[in-house]
Amino acid sequence: MTVKRICLLGATGSIGKSTLDLIAQHPGHFELFSASANSDVEGMLKLIQEFQPAQVCMRDEAAGERLSEQLRQLGQTKTELFIGRQGLNALAAHPSVDMVVAGIVGIAGLVPVWSAVSTGKSVLLANKEALVCAGELFVEAARQSGARILPIDSEHNAIFQCLGSAYRCFTRPESVRRLLLTASGGPFREWSLDAIRAATPEQAVKHPNWVMGPKISVDSATMMNKALELIEAHWLFAMPAEEIEVVIHPQSIIHSMVEFKDGSTLAQLGAPDMRTPIAHAMAWPDRIDSCVESLNWSQLRELQFEVPDNRRFPSLEFARQALASGPVASICLNATNEVMVARFLRGDCSFGAIFDEVEEGLNRFSGRFPVPTGLDDVMAIDTEVRAFYAH
Ligand code: NDP
Ligand code: MG
Repeated sequence: MTVKRICLLGATGSIGKSTLDLIAQHPGHFELFSASANSDVEGMLKLIQEFQPAQVCMRDEAAGERLSEQLRQLGQTKTELFIGRQGLNALAAHPSVDMVVAGIVGIAGLVPVWSAVSTGKSVLLANKEALVCAGELFVEAARQSGARILPIDSEHNAIFQCLGSAYRCFTRPESVRRLLLTASGGPFREWSLDAIRAATPEQAVKHPNWVMGPKISVDSATMMNKALELIEAHWLFAMPAEEIEVVIHPQSIIHSMVEFKDGSTLAQLGAPDMRTPIAHAMAWPDRIDSCVESLNWSQLRELQFEVPDNRRFPSLEFARQALASGPVASICLNATNEVMVARFLRGDCSFGAIFDEVEEGLNRFSGRFPVPTGLDDVMAIDTEVRAFYAH
């Protein structure tokens, strides 16, 4: 096995740390060539000292200046430092990089992921917002460059594993009848509508099964995460939304399933630990150790399944509505959600307001913009929606 050189976008986050753990476990197979963060100088300094990457980038300029000063004081000259948005693109497109792990949160990850896709890299995609917002354009860019997208979002990775050799990114597998996306149901699965609407940020980020960054944790609590994943699955596997079903499975042991035309259903199971899907995609088509614990079959008593409750959790319906009304709607859905989740986490709005405003946003913005024909159009729509909320 030749050493694969990795560009890790979002290296200081939850996906970033799981990826670093796997790189550290397999020094002969993977090398951290480059890494990015937004403002976490401490986290970046620590990984520079441990992994000695050739290049790093801080998105936030003030944080970049602070890191530059610290590297100078430490006499650390081996690592080249980039600062700002352009630096992220340079890292992702560098000719020495074999594989880009897309672990930035939100639409902030779109432009660097686009840069990786356009230069034909293998992209390990966690950043679902990029695909949600740029859908068809993303598919076209990957077709033109020959970039390979390997999903590491656990549900999509599970589907990728179930499909085996039938997986071709952005192509509908002929043998498939439907996809079954599993959802834990989040921390409020059994709560009443009134209690859900009044939930606090502390309650919302406490996911029952997974440890994740704050934005995706809130998305899991509103089930907007599953809504975004429905759109992600639609693009990744070229499946119509009606043939993608969401099943609540509170134990998070089955990570998703594929039902084939002949009536067989295959599932992928494992402990809820992101190192499994990331290890699968990093080594694909081989397998490597991940240090993820085995399932304990003597303690596993039951696997439950429920139908999602659209009244208490309307996000899935919003996603189906967005897919039906075209690409602008998905960008608006995502932008409104990002704005509202940030507000909620700051204590500026209630949990219930996220649902209200996302629904309102779909109606308010969707007819307002022409269909995007390039990345700049996507970013312009996102910027306009955010500007609406800035005052
Ligand atoms: P985290 O919040 O833990 O980490 C986000 C990373 O992105 C950090 O490195 C952060 O840097 C960086 N970042 C944040 N904002 C910006 C910005 N504006 N520009 C550049 N970099 C930025 O998120 P997660 O790791 O939880 O999630 C990352 C992505 O992966 C999301 O799209 C999520 O939906 C997806 N995902 C995550 C899973 C999980 O288990 N965590 C599971 C499946 C998918 P800094 O630390 O400096 O702020
Ligand atoms: Mg997921």
